[in-house]
Amino acid sequence: MGSRLDDEPTKDVNPVVSEILRRAKTGELCCLSCAAGCGATDYAARICPLCGKPVELRPVSGRGRIHSYSVFHAPFNSKLPAPYTVLLVELEEGPRLAVVFDGEGGPPQKVGDAVVFSGADDGIVRFSMA
Ligand SMILES: [Zn+2]
Repeated sequence: MGSRLDDEPTKDVNPVVSEILRRAKTGELCCLSCAAGCGATDYAARICPLCGKPVELRPVSGRGRIHSYSVFHAPFNSKLPAPYTVLLVELEEGPRLAVVFDGEGGPPQKVGDAVVFSGADDGIVRFSMA
């Protein structure tokens, strides 16, 4: 008889997100895109919202604009000492992605500023000013 303790402790509960993070760590930022050609779609989509066909990972430019941002003054992640800034970036391809701002101490960022993918590590995707 099984129990919660029998569950595989390293089971990947979200393999799509894990694959996006694995590729980002190698320098390739991806988004989900309709396999039938409708275009890029939201990161939460598991089928195309337009045609219902499967979605697949495709590389993106890594360029976007700041849609919004929040400055975190409490440490929610041991790898991110506070304060740090989380950006909601709207990629050139359309989807929005929450990332960590890589450039603290520089000029203050504003909504609409151009930003670019600068890397990923420890499950954290980073963008800096373009
Ligand atoms: Zn489609």
